[in-house]
Parts: sequence; structure tokens; C-alpha cells
Amino acid sequence: MTIRGKEMDTKYIFVTGGVVSSLGKGIISASIGKLLQARGYKVTIQKFDPYINIDPGTLNPYEHGECYVTEDGMETDLDLGHYERFTGIHTTRHNSITTGRIYKTVIDRERHGDYLGKTIQVVPHITDEIKRRMLRMEVDELTSGQVDKSDVNGKGNNSSTRQLVNSLTEYDFVITEVGGTIGDIESAPFMEAIRQLRWQLGRDAVCVHLTYVPYLKAADELKTKPTQHSVKELQGMGIQPDILVLRTERHLDDSMRLKVASFCNVDLECVVQSEDVPSIYEVPVRMQRQGLDAAILRKIGIPVGETPAMKPWNNFLQKQRDAAREVHIALVGKYDLQDAYKSIRESLNLAGIYNDVKAKIHFVNSEEVTEGNVAEKLNGVTGVVICPGFGQRGIEGKIIATEYTRTHDIPTFGICLGMQMMVIEFARNVLGYKDANSAEMNPDTPHNVIDMMEEQKSITEMGGTMRLGAYECELQEGSRAYEAYNVQESMVNGQCSIKERHRHRYEFNNKYKEEYEAKGMKCVGINPAADLVEIVEIPTLKWFVGTQFHPEYSSTVLHPHPLFMSFVKACSE
Ligand code: GLN
Repeated sequence: MTIRGKEMDTKYIFVTGGVVSSLGKGIISASIGKLLQARGYKVTIQKFDPYINIDPGTLNPYEHGECYVTEDGMETDLDLGHYERFTGIHTTRHNSITTGRIYKTVIDRERHGDYLGKTIQVVPHITDEIKRRMLRMEVDELTSGQVDKSDVNGKGNNSSTRQLVNSLTEYDFVITEVGGTIGDIESAPFMEAIRQLRWQLGRDAVCVHLTYVPYLKAADELKTKPTQHSVKELQGMGIQPDILVLRTERHLDDSMRLKVASFCNVDLECVVQSEDVPSIYEVPVRMQRQGLDAAILRKIGIPVGETPAMKPWNNFLQKQRDAAREVHIALVGKYDLQDAYKSIRESLNLAGIYNDVKAKIHFVNSEEVTEGNVAEKLNGVTGVVICPGFGQRGIEGKIIATEYTRTHDIPTFGICLGMQMMVIEFARNVLGYKDANSAEMNPDTPHNVIDMMEEQKSITEMGGTMRLGAYECELQEGSRAYEAYNVQESMVNGQCSIKERHRHRYEFNNKYKEEYEAKGMKCVGINPAADLVEIVEIPTLKWFVGTQFHPEYSSTVLHPHPLFMSFVKACSE
């Protein structure tokens, strides 16, 4: 990026949260990213999580919601889904860091002898590793041994640190969101790293702090004290926030903002409120209206210039407001938690808006679905998603739901485990293999229509060892999937190869392929390198498609996913 003919140094924005969790730091970070991007800057957004797991891949969705997968196969926090949906950027393994990964890198390096006899400590070794990653000096733990020993400590020499940073970063802005809440013991090293970076980077770093202003009904008052305390806590760690974003359920008047500004040493124009809005996608424009992006630029010393019109985004918002007709879609899964199927919910929601309808999602707990109640459970829905997942629990309910939608010709979308359930149901009820199953659920099943992938058989480690990330898939011409991808402008007519993200250990067993095809379930998407079935469909039904990959990870606000578009269209007809 050049500003007035001069190369611009990379700027760093740190986003922290106080008072309580779940304030929507991810949405605010994504919104800042969007607004800066709309001004023509090259942006990336990364998340630092204070837990010890190397990545969230081994976490139960009840802990932190869905596990989002990047194109390069990293299992990450669901906030990366917001970053991608808002900005359309592709994140990578470098955009999702945990305390566990930081420690692992440092400990591996220590075992390798890289520290030459030094005592390894939280400060400076852990904080240095955090800083290195915050600055996007992308040292990969997998290449430990060829570690970049460059000094990020600064040691009072700001200019040499600055030089090092510049040469390694391709972005104009790196936005870093830190998980957890100020005051947590476990996030302290991250705060110390931010404090040091602030000092070293000077004006090139900006701290945005998100807090909560509660409304006390009995007193009929909004209270700023928790915000004041949160900022004090941050100041106690040596960090003065530049910008405060106040989450609130009620509008804050200027006197409230002024009070916060003067108690917290923050300019009035840098106190922004984030009121509850009907849709998270309204947040960027609300922030823009209050000048959040302009305040960031001013703090950094970049000329603010004109406010971008964000035409496509605003067109989308208008479509969202206009979409009135409701389409009812069931999500058949086992995690009764909003965040567990976040990307699927958002993909349905976005595809609905672009189809001029409101997708109303009804969660159906697959553990409770029986032959006797399936009709009642799916009553009134015009489409069903069979959700991804792992393990035995709840799968029989998914199979029953699949049988019901297949025999009643209700549009059905099976994703990953959902696709595998479609395959098993078909084997049991059409091919006549009553004992058909996935080797995941019963390793000794005589009809293993879903089997473990060959390369998975020797793996014993659980973390990061599945088939992860984007792989190619060739689409069969004339199939429903092919049609869906082809109506998107991004597809050049005739092109039949796509790339989608994966997260699985089991696959369609090719031994049975011919039988399936003969009886009407077609394998219409194949990975050319591994001859792996990626998509199955029953073309004689209205819309009955299962994908081994996860299309939900690549749906964005401005580019809804073609399969979701086509599915919701079928549900709304
Ligand atoms: N458990 C299945 C597998 O590992 C499906 C995984 C998923 O739905 N993400 O193959």
C-alpha cells in the first residue's frame, strides 16, 4: 500500500475484551477488517486463544462451538469463520494461535538446544514467541530446528525491530484478537506481549478494547463502572486503550460516552457504542457511521479521506431487510447449541437472503428422533440438513430422518457425517444391507459402506491428523451439484473442478459404488488424486445431495456458497 507515494509500514490493531465474555469481539474484529478493506487496505485478522490445546480440533463443540477449518487444513476457532465471511480473505494456520502452540514451539526449541543454556521463562521466551506470531513472523513449529533466531525483543532498538517487521509482512493491517477477558490469569502473557509491542511499534499499533455497559432495570440506568474497572485493569498491565467499543442493549447518550472518555483517558470520538442489532452483518456499517475506522486511522496518523460507500455490502443488507417470506429448514444434529453449527447456520442464512427469503432454522436433536416421531419432528419444514459430527451418539436418528426425507422427497443436504448417513441409509433400505454401517461406529460391520481411509489406518495421534483442508473435486456434468456450481459467475462455463475443505477420517467405500449407481444414488463428485467420492446425489429426487466436504466453511457475505444457494432455492420452491 502506498500513501501519498510512500510505502506504508504494516500497522497492528489489537482487540481485547473486558467485563464479560461473549461480547462479540470476533464480530468487531471482522468489522474493523471489513471497513479497512473497503478503504483499499490489505488486511488480515488473527485470533490468539489462551487455552492449552494446540488447536480446537480436539475440543467438544460444547466447549467453544464449531471447529472452523482453513484452506490449508488448520482446525481453528469459529471466529475465523466470521473473519472470512465478513472480509472474504482466506485465513491460514497462522491466523489461529493458542497458548498450547506457543508453548509447544518454545519447548520443542528448548529440546533442540536452540536456547544455548538459557533458563526458559514466560518473560521473555513465551512473550517473544507471542510477539513473533503477532507480528506475523511466520516461524512454523513444524520446521523447528531451522528456527529464525531474529530478535523480536527490541532491546530499546525500535528501528531494527521495525525493519524486521516490514520485511516480513505483506499486509497493511494485521488485526489481532485476543480471546478471553482482561484479568484472566491465562491471558496475562498475551497482554504483556501487546504492551511491549505497543512500546516498540509506537503509532503503528492501536489498542481497541471492547467492554460492556449493563442496563440495571431496577435503577433504570446504564452503568459505566464495569468499563472503568476493565480499563483500569488494562492500564495496570501497562496498556492504555486507544479506542473503546461499548457493548450495550440501550443507546448511550453523549454524556455517557463523555463520562467514559474522561474516566478512561480516551478521546470522545474514540468511544464507540455497539448496540444490539438484529443481524451481525449490520455491525460494520454501524461502526462506520460512528467513525470507528476513521478513529483508528487518525490514531495511526493516516489521512482519513472519504468514507467508502460499501455498495455491495449495503445492497446485501437491503436484501436482508427485504427478505420476508420464511422458509423453514431443520438442522438434524446432536449439539443443541447455537455455535455448534455456526457456519452452516450462517450459510443457510446468507443463501436465504440471496434467494429473497428468510431461512428459519429449527434444530432437531437427532438423539430424540425415532421412527414413531420423525414425521412430527420434521413437520412443516421444507428442507433438512443432516449435520456433520463424530461418534455413535445420535446417528440412528440422523438415519431415520434421512429415510423420511428420501421417501417423502423433501430437499436434503447431508454434510460430511450427514453425507455418510445418507449413504448408510441407502444401503440399509434400498440395497438391502440391513447391517450396513460406518467403520467408525462399528469396526466389524460386514457392510462397511463407509470405511476408514487407507492413510488413516496407521495414525494414532488424535490432533490435526484427519484429512483436513482444501482438496480438489471433479464434478460430473449434468449433475445437480454441477448445475449449482455452474450458475455462479465465478465458474467459467464448462469448468468442472472445484476445491472444498475437509475434516474427516472415513470415506465412501468404492467397493459398493456400482451397486449405488445402479440403484439410483450417483457419485457425482470425485477427488481425482485419491478416487475418493466427494459428492453423492439422487437425481430423481427434488434435491438430495450429500458432500464429504464442508461447503459451509467457504460461504461469505458477498459470495454465498453455490450448493447452499441451490439447496435453499429448492427448499423455497
Ligand atoms: N466422523 C466422520 C469422519 O470422520 C465425519 C466427520 C465430520 O462430519 N466432520 O469421517
